[in-house]
Amino acid sequence: MKRNTDKDMEQNMATDIIEAAAESVEEDTAEITFKSFGIREELLKAIERKGFVTPTPVQQKVLEVGSFDNDMIVRAKTGSGKTLAFLLPLLRDMKHRERSPSMLILSPTRELAQQTAREAEWLTRFLDISVVSLVGGLEMSPQLRSLREGAAIVVGTPGRTLDHVERGSLDTKNISCVVLDEGDQMLDMGFRDELEGILNALPKERRTWLFSATMPTEVRELANRYLKDPKIISLVHDGDQHEDILHRVYMVPSRRRFEGLVNILLWERPKRGLLFCHTRLESIEIAQKLQDEGFSAAALHGEMTQRERNAVLASFKSGSMPYLVATNVAARGLDVEGVTHVIQVGLPDDRETFVHRSGRTGRAGNEGIDLVLLSPLEAGRFKMMLRSTQMKIEWKDVPSLDMIHAVQRDVAEEKLLTTPVASDSAYLEWAGDMLERADAKVLVAKLLEALHSRTAKGYSISADLERERERRQRAPIREESGARTGAMRRSAVGSARPHGTMTRLRNTGASRQGGGNDVGRILNALCSALKVERGAVGAIRLKDDYVMVELLPEALSRLEQGKAGLAKWGLYPEDEGYAKPRASDTRTRTRDAYDRKKRRGDEN
Ligand code: ADP
Ligand code: MG
Repeated sequence: MKRNTDKDMEQNMATDIIEAAAESVEEDTAEITFKSFGIREELLKAIERKGFVTPTPVQQKVLEVGSFDNDMIVRAKTGSGKTLAFLLPLLRDMKHRERSPSMLILSPTRELAQQTAREAEWLTRFLDISVVSLVGGLEMSPQLRSLREGAAIVVGTPGRTLDHVERGSLDTKNISCVVLDEGDQMLDMGFRDELEGILNALPKERRTWLFSATMPTEVRELANRYLKDPKIISLVHDGDQHEDILHRVYMVPSRRRFEGLVNILLWERPKRGLLFCHTRLESIEIAQKLQDEGFSAAALHGEMTQRERNAVLASFKSGSMPYLVATNVAARGLDVEGVTHVIQVGLPDDRETFVHRSGRTGRAGNEGIDLVLLSPLEAGRFKMMLRSTQMKIEWKDVPSLDMIHAVQRDVAEEKLLTTPVASDSAYLEWAGDMLERADAKVLVAKLLEALHSRTAKGYSISADLERERERRQRAPIREESGARTGAMRRSAVGSARPHGTMTRLRNTGASRQGGGNDVGRILNALCSALKVERGAVGAIRLKDDYVMVELLPEALSRLEQGKAGLAKWGLYPEDEGYAKPRASDTRTRTRDAYDRKKRRGDEN
């Protein structure tokens, strides 16, 4: 994070004209080190050993506060160093040999909790303090043992932590500070009840610190309820562009998304790519198909055991497996060094998800590339999702087969023509021998073939994309015609009537209200949640556990902000290409039970 170099400065000083600028550079970075903030010796030693010199901006801002007795809300981008920003001030006053839990950090996922626990461990290396992580999916007994042996710093996921509170194994009476890390994500994952359960069990006299990159309404509500006069430190503005991340959207034909992905990987050639998709099934399928194509890839999702998750992460981190296909479980907080590309397959659920996923690259000042694969239909929604932001996005069509072949040829030629061979290489003699026995051109052709026998060849799909685009321009809703048989249509189809976009909503309202699932209810829900007139809603088609609604542009543009309102009616907008829960799941379970199941899958 140290920005200027002495050389830069000397050059600046050389000319009078820009002397002022040089001075400000000097001032900017002069001696802002961890030592400037009265951090205790033991921590400074650990930081030095880790090799960190300059605190990141969020760390500086927090440390500058100086007194840490208040509640606090900190907003900063992903990868900006929030973990140390809360650990350093909290550890400042901790007793050297604390033997009961005094600090609780709650994290949305097991990986993030374990990662934070590891940061706390190296940081407290010179203090006689121990750290325990309370995460689901791992055995209880080591956690119970660490707690009994006097762990002072507790890092946990909400579900498992509440378990320990309820069993009485986590003694909360000395907890003087609780950190809600990635607060937005915890609420997204449906941990509200657990969080409240835990917060209510903590001593009233305590500090509550909320760290989050985004502040959606639910987070503000939680903050209002549980934080007292929080000091607010914000290093982000909504819609801020992370300047180290380049966003590039690739348009792919909707029915040949995987083929599009293969072409993009062959074209972009990511060194280490973290792929995101929507469902567990999708992650497994994509990873499997990538392997079939000759890529080294594995899935990471919430229903793997912790052991499996750790193993997959380890081979991704070591570089032996360059592609990891993850569900959103891995989207937050996960810090893997050297992720060169984030690849989002399909439309992200919302802006926050988009920002968080792309934040897995471009960490700690390195540049990263964020690729998003979208069908023409999704592209429109994506633009809408980002309409109030200043984000710069590069738009491209899926690379054609010709482009891929050209780049493959370049790479092969570079490898064969420019890499030197040792003059005493045994291969030289062998090669000479073979050249005497076979035609050189044929030999080279065979070698090239062998060189490429295990690499994917790419797909010819550019024409599909063109066709899909044309089709959409001619008749925006024709794609849905297959779903029309036997469907109810609210209004007559007149050719003069403007067409809207068919949008799929998961519908759990019927089960919740014991039947009463009718078109009128859906129409009322849409009009009130999206604040539109009835004319802005076209056809409504009821299915078992979902409903297709035709939204005119006015209604469609409010879909994002109307999400919460629709949820009150048991309606949840879905995007094409999602795996749907089976009909029986939603019919027999309430929304709460559904959420709980989904979340348990992610956490436990
Ligand atoms: P966030 O929680 O904001 O997403 P993290 O706390 O996970 O970010 O930090 C991101 C990465 O930056 C981690 O690998 C961390 O070790 C590293 N990092 C944190 N602080 C510093 C620092 N002062 N100097 C260099 N690297 C740092
Ligand atoms: Mg973090």
